[in-house]
Amino acid sequence: MAATAIPSTYNPLIKKIESGLSPFSSTQKFNRSSNSNGRIVAVMAPQSERSPSTTGSVKTAMTMTEKILARASERSHLVPGENVWVNVDVLMTHDVCGPGTIGIFKKEFGENAKVWDREKIVIIPDHYIFTSDERANRNVDIIRDFSLDQNIKYFYDIKDLSNFKANPDYKGVCHIALAQEGHCRPGEVLLGTDSHTCNAGAFGQFATGIGNTDAGFVMGAGKLLLKVPPTLRFVLDGEMPNYLLAKDLILQIIGEISVAGATYKSMEFVGSTVESLTMEERMTLCNMVVEAGGKNGVVPADATTYKYLEGKTTKDFEPMYSDQNASFLSEYRFDVSKLEPVVAKPHSPDNRALARECKDVKIDRVYIGSCTGGKTEDFMAAAKVFLALGKKVKVPTFLVPATQKVWLDVYTLPVPGSGGKTCSQIFEEAGCDTPASPNCGACLGGPRDTYARMNEPQVCVSTTNRNFPGRMGHKEGQIYLASPYTAAASALTGFVTDPREFLQ
Ligand code: SF4
Repeated sequence: MAATAIPSTYNPLIKKIESGLSPFSSTQKFNRSSNSNGRIVAVMAPQSERSPSTTGSVKTAMTMTEKILARASERSHLVPGENVWVNVDVLMTHDVCGPGTIGIFKKEFGENAKVWDREKIVIIPDHYIFTSDERANRNVDIIRDFSLDQNIKYFYDIKDLSNFKANPDYKGVCHIALAQEGHCRPGEVLLGTDSHTCNAGAFGQFATGIGNTDAGFVMGAGKLLLKVPPTLRFVLDGEMPNYLLAKDLILQIIGEISVAGATYKSMEFVGSTVESLTMEERMTLCNMVVEAGGKNGVVPADATTYKYLEGKTTKDFEPMYSDQNASFLSEYRFDVSKLEPVVAKPHSPDNRALARECKDVKIDRVYIGSCTGGKTEDFMAAAKVFLALGKKVKVPTFLVPATQKVWLDVYTLPVPGSGGKTCSQIFEEAGCDTPASPNCGACLGGPRDTYARMNEPQVCVSTTNRNFPGRMGHKEGQIYLASPYTAAASALTGFVTDPREFLQ
């Protein structure tokens, strides 16, 4: 897919250095973590001359992705391009790809075979859940039968479709559920049958999407042959303006390098701006690396990571960090303080434009949801914009929390500066649709009865991650990818709107 021409006004903000060997950012100063019991679970040497317990002495510098794969393949050193057998820490599948994965597992390992490790497989119904579509419902039945038969420890079931709250095990969108349930741990390898598995790179985990055939093999063998990707490094420095969110940063980057700019490469995000991001914002950054073709994205684990993990996992983990003199294929530097809110116009995530350049684009609807833009902080951000103006939305505005936990937050957490109002109260006052049951929803269209699916050729501003033709339902629909700030601002005007109009 061709990249859109980049306006010259962007260029002074970005500096690309080929084969750059640059000092590592201050992220290295975070050198240890503790779990909820206060026990130290990981200690990092501050310099590159470290001796990982499982890989022996590091003789040649490596990036963090190379180090994670070296640990997982029991090698002391790896270089990009090598093919290695990688031991998998977590395998995730869901209702769309689970049945196919299970079918391949049974075909190759035997009808009565047992999975390699029932505690390392996470099965999450999330895609086509609240629908009367028989094939979709059957998929959930298949993964349920398999999970019960195999005694899968982490199967997040849903049985009562009429009331998601009646299903205590049900979580919602897999990538956010993986994070919230403690399956994302620094230094580990997570493979999933979903392209946005890269979301978990926010934790300093090697996380990538794989196909059903590979997943069927992992299910039986616990390992997979992977090619070590070279790494592109993105250094984001500068104070984040209060009108920007991580969605703006990743749309900026994808617009810069195109949808093929990181094909089979690791994207490592460092710099003072990245350090200042919350875990949910780091997830937004990593979630969309696959839209640039990236194999995975990673953010070095730090105190923010360890804080988020408190109480979520009791498993020891070993974070990995790029050596000071590691080789990166290219390095891109961004001065975040000078960036503006951006959107990706139809029909490609790299079709970047400034939000203000699209102010004449009339829209029919707004969608806030998905693994990219349906987290608690995404709804908080949208509520902040609605609160600032105190007016009603001009177009139907659909809200789909990613998980049960997010849904609960929307209904219980007070929005800062609101005098104690929750997001749900602010959304109701603004005339939005009632927040829906957590699932993938209309992010990928789904069966025709899917809530908020685009069944007409409308124009939508969406916090999701893809805007290809047909992605949200109708093949002639036009999707503008945007941050929750921009989505909420656009809902209030009925046009694509730069949120600075309401936030400054
Ligand atoms: S929310 Fe959308 S992008 Fe995320 S896993 Fe579901 S369908 Fe995929």
